[in-house]
Amino acid sequence: MNNPIRRVAIAGGTHGNELVGVHLVKHWKSAPKEIQRASFSTELHLTNPAANKALRRYIDQDLNRQFYVEDLNNTGLMGCEQQRAKVLNELLGPKEDPRIDFVIDMHTTTANMGTSLIFNLNDPFVVGMAFYIKQKMPNATLFFNPRTRLEDNFLMSVGRLSGLLIEVGPIAQGLLNYEVYSQTQSAVYHGLDYIEARNTGQYLDLPSQLSGYKFTEKVPLPVDEDGEITAMIHPNLQDKDYCEIAPGDPLFITLAGKTIYYQGESSVYGAFINEAAYYDQNIGLSFMEKIDIVLNDK
Ligand SMILES: [Zn+2]
Repeated sequence: MNNPIRRVAIAGGTHGNELVGVHLVKHWKSAPKEIQRASFSTELHLTNPAANKALRRYIDQDLNRQFYVEDLNNTGLMGCEQQRAKVLNELLGPKEDPRIDFVIDMHTTTANMGTSLIFNLNDPFVVGMAFYIKQKMPNATLFFNPRTRLEDNFLMSVGRLSGLLIEVGPIAQGLLNYEVYSQTQSAVYHGLDYIEARNTGQYLDLPSQLSGYKFTEKVPLPVDEDGEITAMIHPNLQDKDYCEIAPGDPLFITLAGKTIYYQGESSVYGAFINEAAYYDQNIGLSFMEKIDIVLNDK
């Protein structure tokens, strides 16, 4: 590999009420050997302490949407998370020429998504990491949304290679849950092992292609003329993340008990179904498409 990874940052609490990442960071601060590997250094960061203290996802804005270069350089953006993003950009970046090579950002979801490996950069090192973790954790789901680092506003895009977001659920906001904690922990260990293997030139027998999902659209909850929610996720769809939604399948059920059906012309797949964090925008779920992800360094 031309550019070995020298500095890795593990982030927790980017959303302040996602406590698994917060407590993994706290745990590793007292047990740093667990995240040490010989060929690179690993730093731990509690990324949104104000929101974490308030046990809220954010104070003013979603921190994980604040990392466009133009926003980081815009001194007029002075909300809590907008300022925090600038601090993190100094600490880990700057995005234009980052100190940190790779960011692993730990999140949780209230949706039944199991362990999802979210990555946005179509780079063989990044895709290879997701494939490696999937090999070790076969139940994990690959969630790939290709875009360049500069097109990406996630925290992990501040590293030299846009990193890995580990999203594990279901878990309520503000809770710890050992299953979710240990799945997140395992995914991080495999990610670090992968970096170590690549840095030291070990041969990894990775598949050349795996299937995964790509985000296509956010689907709003039905609302009335005053913007009040009039329906909720249909019980047949609840907890069916990554399952197929065919034309005519139930999507929502109104407060009066009437089913609202999916009207699209072709099948889609659901994710973030009934995600509590998206009620601030009245979003009911995301639609995804199933894709083949190719590892290009064979
Ligand atoms: Zn999150």
